[in-house]
Amino acid sequence: MANGLKRTPGFFDFIIIGAGVIGSATACYLKKALPESRILLIDRYHTAGAGNTAKSAALFRNFFSSRTNRLLAGSSISYYLEPGTKVQLDPTGYLWLFSKEQWNASRTAIHELDPEKNKFEILDRDRIADILGINYQAKGHFPDVNSGIFCHLCGSLSATALARHYASLFKSMGGEINFNTDIKEFIITGQNSCYAPWDNVFIDGIVDQKGNTYNAKEFIVATGAWTHDLLAPIGIASGILPKKRQLFALKIENNAGLLADSTSTIRPAIILPAGGVYIKPVFDKNIIIVGCADDLGQPFLMSDPEPDPLYFQRAIEPVLNHYFPELDFILSLKWAGYYDYHWPDMTPVIESVANLTWVGGTSGSGIMKADAIGRIAAARVQGHKEALLADGSKFRVSRLSLQDRDVEKEELII
Ligand SMILES: Cc1cc2nc3c(=O)[nH]c(=O)nc-3n(C[C@H](O)[C@H](O)[C@H](O)COP(=O)(O)OP(=O)(O)OC[C@H]3O[C@@H](n4cnc5c(N)ncnc54)[C@H](O)[C@@H]3O)c2cc1C
Repeated sequence: MANGLKRTPGFFDFIIIGAGVIGSATACYLKKALPESRILLIDRYHTAGAGNTAKSAALFRNFFSSRTNRLLAGSSISYYLEPGTKVQLDPTGYLWLFSKEQWNASRTAIHELDPEKNKFEILDRDRIADILGINYQAKGHFPDVNSGIFCHLCGSLSATALARHYASLFKSMGGEINFNTDIKEFIITGQNSCYAPWDNVFIDGIVDQKGNTYNAKEFIVATGAWTHDLLAPIGIASGILPKKRQLFALKIENNAGLLADSTSTIRPAIILPAGGVYIKPVFDKNIIIVGCADDLGQPFLMSDPEPDPLYFQRAIEPVLNHYFPELDFILSLKWAGYYDYHWPDMTPVIESVANLTWVGGTSGSGIMKADAIGRIAAARVQGHKEALLADGSKFRVSRLSLQDRDVEKEELII
């Protein structure tokens, strides 16, 4: 090519940028629907799921106030039960603890849910005491524990195994994958008359870090937290912004408090009523993983990717010390990643401009919703109005668009 770019052989029907759990699931369902089409999945890393998918706590829950989120997560979980051990599915439950104030604020949403259908039970303080040796007393910033919900159809899985599961299914159907390929630029055609708005502007190709170009009829951007930085320069307001999130693995020296009975087979993830602090137990490794979802003060930027021990000391440790005063632990590992948020409803986005579709805005729950999102994104690029989800339900694809958005605000947020 005259400008020094190297055209890679072939012309693809679809190119998907981003082989995280979302791009891999999308690639898988698109190839399944269109086995004859030529589809290329690209990622800058060496394997599928190595971006924020790998940083995730990989907890899953079907427990949301929003009907849309219940559908996306519930149907995805019904699919994850199928590969089961392959994705290291561990349905140990969620124990969600509420202060009186939080309970009153969420009461309407909770009472609209069917405990039998959604497989949860409401617990009073005594029942919580049977499971956890928790300190109930309010002090300073830490509210009293008033009630809880035990969600049975929740737990954890391996997020990287899930992404690789979709990527390998995609490959086994004849899909093509290019790892170590970092897309730097979009080639946009139709601007010959210099920004005339009646030009048919579309994406002709993409260019990687080595100057190789890749051409396709349709492009799908599934780059998670990197979406804003990739699409803003070409004039697309994706509605997706990154925010740093950190996790800390604590080696448990004594289990006092975390489980009332250390022989218990109940090992739920725990959501504490203060500061958005949550705990993922990995008792067979004698560790717990703790995180926190703070808002004000945490920038919508891909700034410093390093975890900050001070953050643990200031935001998380005081909460643990309050609710589990006898718990003895050593901070053994820490890492940071990014949520890709869509505000204000914290529900995923699937939208298109010309021949480019972007899928993201998973807002901290992309692992648990990936199967449904992949199916809906694949349906959208095929021009279908509805997607068939794993549990047999039908989902109108435009509900996740920006232009015809039809989703509810989520009340049960970590
Ligand atoms: C600390 C933390 C805890 C979390 N806990 C949970 C949880 O418990 N449960 C849950 O459901 N979710 C959780 N999440 C959220 C979850 O990880 C995300 O929702 C999910 O991984 C999003 O998947 P994705 O495929 O969109 O993004 P990613 O996995 O980040 O994939 C995007 C891919 O795009 C690639 N890419 C980006 N730009 C380019 C480019 N220019 N060229 C080529 N490739 C590119 C990246 O390399 C990356 O592999 C957590 C996230 C974090 C950070």
